[in-house]
This record gives sequence, structure tokens and C-alpha cells, in this order.
Amino acid sequence: MQKKGIKCIAVLTSGGDAPGMNAAIRAVTRAALTNNVKVFGINYGFQGMIENDFSELNYEDIGGIISLGGTILKTARCKKFTTYEGREKAYKNLKERNIDGVVVIGGDGSFKGAAQFSSEFDIPFIGIPGTIDNDITGTEYTIGFDTAINTVVEAVDKIKDTARSHGRIFFVESMGREAGLLALGSGIACGAEVILIPEVPEQEKELDRFINKDIVNKKSSGIIMVAEGYKTGGALKIAERVKAQHPDIEARVTILGHIQRGGNPTAQDRITATRMGVAAINGLLVGKKNIMIGLKNQNIVEISFSLVKKAFRPINKEFIDLQEVITRH
Ligand code: ATP
Repeated sequence: MQKKGIKCIAVLTSGGDAPGMNAAIRAVTRAALTNNVKVFGINYGFQGMIENDFSELNYEDIGGIISLGGTILKTARCKKFTTYEGREKAYKNLKERNIDGVVVIGGDGSFKGAAQFSSEFDIPFIGIPGTIDNDITGTEYTIGFDTAINTVVEAVDKIKDTARSHGRIFFVESMGREAGLLALGSGIACGAEVILIPEVPEQEKELDRFINKDIVNKKSSGIIMVAEGYKTGGALKIAERVKAQHPDIEARVTILGHIQRGGNPTAQDRITATRMGVAAINGLLVGKKNIMIGLKNQNIVEISFSLVKKAFRPINKEFIDLQEVITRH
């Protein structure tokens, strides 16, 4: 590997936390130290960069964190970094420590900030995608998604016990903002009777079919998995509509909320975070900048920050067809 005189780097997490961020911090730190590169952790993302909240990371500082959810470096959203004055202050703090490369673990917003900074100052930034939403272009995977989907499945398995015991239907709302990927995958994995996601609104006819055929005539139970971005109002709104039409059926709403962001990362998230963390350091060492590390066909790839944006991942029609075949009878 051709080294570009990188002697000191910094790592930070930014935007919403995601399980696996710690595994990425660990990989970045260890890969750097192995290459005799000094590492600073920046607390609270870009805010800490501006407020001079740095601490050196040694081998032992990141021991045992691979299995922890959240981020030991804390995270934040920082308005000041969107101003030139804020970024200039951040630059001075990086320069003061002779930091000559930065790894940003976060979402597309964080990479926008990193790209803006790199267009103004001479310190290279490399990004690692960490968000449970899996909604960033240029990579087929973002760290945290697999843990989140498994958390949803575990929670719904428990809710199903009550649904079956009481003959109730539960409208369960998952996160994912405007994206239905989390609801679709977890809905299939936990055997939901109906899955409602923003990308395929016509699935609501499946809900009516299920209610009329299975609930009204037989006393039965079921899970309706609803993405939070489904129409306006998510699970609450759709449950209200059903209750108004069928006052006799027992329906409950569970909004899973932030439990989906926490928890110990799955093996897949730990492995991906480790691969991406090492790739980010390898990139800095050979003089790469302004790129996000991603996965394509399971292989590590590099994507220019200019091509990275938040985007709806196209829904695999096979999954929709699968759901219909599995639930129609
Ligand atoms: P998540 O997917 O969890 O929302 P994110 O990285 O997209 O993560 P954002 O809040 O969009 O989260 O962005 C994180 C931070 O990046 C912002 O608080 C801000 O400091 C910085 N940032 C975002 N966009 C810009 C920009 N255009 N210029 C400078 N900084 C930016």
C-alpha cells in the first residue's frame, strides 16, 4: 500500500445513532494504530469538532465495544457546522492537532457536511454509512439495518403471543421514515398478515381483504405491519379507519419507536462495520478523499460524496409477491 504521509486521523459519529457504529469506531481505530497512525475520537460529531471536544484513542480505549449499541463517541446534529464560521473553527481545531484525515460515521446529511468541508479545507474526509434506515444511494447496505430488523422481529414475535391469546389484531408501526424497507423485511420475517409501506399503497386492499375474510367471519388474530411513513399518520391512522368501520373487532396499536435504534449489533452489522472501518483507513492511507465506503454485491466499494444522497431503495417486487402468496388462502 502506498502511504500518503498520514500520521494522525480523527473519527466521529454524526446524525442518528445506529447499532454497529461502535464496531466501526473500533475498526477505524485499530486499523489506524496498526499502521502507526495516531487516532483522536471526536465527541458529539461535528459539534465536538467545533467545540474542541477531542480525546486520543488508544488500543485499550476501544476494547470490548464491538458488541455495544449506540456510540461511545456520542452523536449530535450541529447547526453551526452548516455555516462557514463553524467549519473554519472545526478546521483550526483539527490543524492544531496535526490531524490529516477524518472518518465520519453517519448518514447522508453528515456526508453533505463532510463534502462541504472538504471543498473548503485541505483535510480529506472519508464516510462510513451508519443508519438503520438503509436509505443511502451508492451502497446496498448501511450499518445498523440488520440489527434494527432483528429487533423488530423479536418485538413482534412477543406481540403475537398476546394477539393470538386474545384474538386481537395488532397494528405494529416500525421506523424507517419515508422508506418501507424495514417494515417489509420484518413483516415477512415475523409472518405479518398484511404489510403496509409507502412505496406500495395499493396493499391496503390486502388489509380489507384480511379483515373481511379472516377477522369478521372467524374470530382470529393477526399482525398488520405498518411503516411509520405509510400515508399520513402511520399505524394510528390506519387502525382508526379500521375501528370506525368494524367497531366489534379488537384492534390495538403498538408503535415500536426507539427500541429499534438500540441493542447489541448483529453479527452482520459487526462484520460490515469492521470491513468498512478498515477500508476507510486503507483509503486515507493511499490518499483517497471525499468518498463514502459502501457495499455492492457484498464487496467493498468507494463512492464519491457527490453521488451520495438519501434515496428510496426500490422495493423488490419479489417480496411483495412473496407476501401475497404466503398470506392468501
Ligand atoms: P440520519 O440518517 O440519522 O439523519 P444524517 O447524517 O443524515 O443521519 P443529518 O442531521 O442530516 O443526519 O446531518 C448530520 C449533520 O451533518 C448536521 O447536523 C450538520 O451538522 C451536518 N450537515 C448536514 N448537511 C450539511 C450541509 N449541507 N453543510 C454542512 N453541514 C451539513
